[in-house]
Amino acid sequence: MKQLIHDISPLIETPQQIVITHHYNADADALGSSLGLYHYLTLKGHKCIVVSPNGMPDFLQWMPAAYKVLKFDEQRNEVITAIEKATLLFCLDFNQFSRTKELAPFLENAKAKKIIIDHHLNPDKNFDFGVSKPSKSSTCEMIFDFINEMGDNALINLDIAQCLYSGVMTDTGSFKFPSTSANVHLMVADLMQKGLVPTPIHQAILDNYQENRLRFLGYILSEKMLLFPEYNSAIIAVSREELNKYKINTGDTEGIVNYPLSIKNIIFSTFISERDNEIRMSFRSKGDFNVNIFARNYFNGGGHHNASGGRSDVSLSETIKIYKQALDDNKKQLKQCYLDLQ
Ligand code: 5GP
Ligand code: MN
Repeated sequence: MKQLIHDISPLIETPQQIVITHHYNADADALGSSLGLYHYLTLKGHKCIVVSPNGMPDFLQWMPAAYKVLKFDEQRNEVITAIEKATLLFCLDFNQFSRTKELAPFLENAKAKKIIIDHHLNPDKNFDFGVSKPSKSSTCEMIFDFINEMGDNALINLDIAQCLYSGVMTDTGSFKFPSTSANVHLMVADLMQKGLVPTPIHQAILDNYQENRLRFLGYILSEKMLLFPEYNSAIIAVSREELNKYKINTGDTEGIVNYPLSIKNIIFSTFISERDNEIRMSFRSKGDFNVNIFARNYFNGGGHHNASGGRSDVSLSETIKIYKQALDDNKKQLKQCYLDLQ
């Protein structure tokens, strides 16, 4: 795979039929980067379609042109036709086709040139072009860099700015994670100078929950969170019954995994939820403890150094047993990472 974004510029010199896609259960970075790129490439004279494996949560539907996104689970035939017609396929915010679930074989078999722009570790080899930069805060930051490298900073309008700001804000945990580089702040300054107003975006994304989500949060923090001080770790595991009781949808559990990390001495947090066909797991850490490796080694997943996800196809209680054994396997490392932070 070629590394230089400059390889892409000859590909888009003449008008192309472009499909832009992202991972299953789109978050603000997946959707923001896709729509940011959509607005930019449309301004450049290309015909673009954004395709989502399964749509987006309600709190992202305000994004400019979100209503135009084709959803594979609802508009299967339109999506297949768009992919067949495409000359270029931009794959954003994911590193393996399997992260798009049922859409994966259609993307893999597409005739279009496949371009990855992503910041997850360990990208697949089967993309034709693109960039994979785990040091980057977000795919939105990478789209901003791409537009600048194309010499098109002046084309960044309010639509593009709002989309790109959303992903960089959420993927940096509102500008607090270590990936929040000087470049991130320069990007935000540039977007604000172009007219972006951040507060309504924070409110639209972060202050837009239903009452049940907060009640659920109260319940799990008080009743379900388990601490393992000897491993500097915490886990929250919730069953399908509990999710149903509080009418919790997939998007509602986003971010809950971070709460235990606000406890002094906790450097590794895990959130487990029992979904329809599998057990979903989220991992977060502070400092050197590598949850990308933890997710890959034990739970068929991956992601970043301090934020990753995985899954398990055994029962919830079996999964917790495997997790406890995995904690014990990593005891020394957890202790060392904790000490390094002191
Ligand atoms: P989350 O816990 O928010 O679902 O995921 C945390 C991070 O890990 C996200 O950046 C997500 O893209 C990544 N991630 C989640 N699940 C997987 C997985 O199964 N494989 C890989 N490679 N990355 C994942
Ligand atoms: Mn991302």
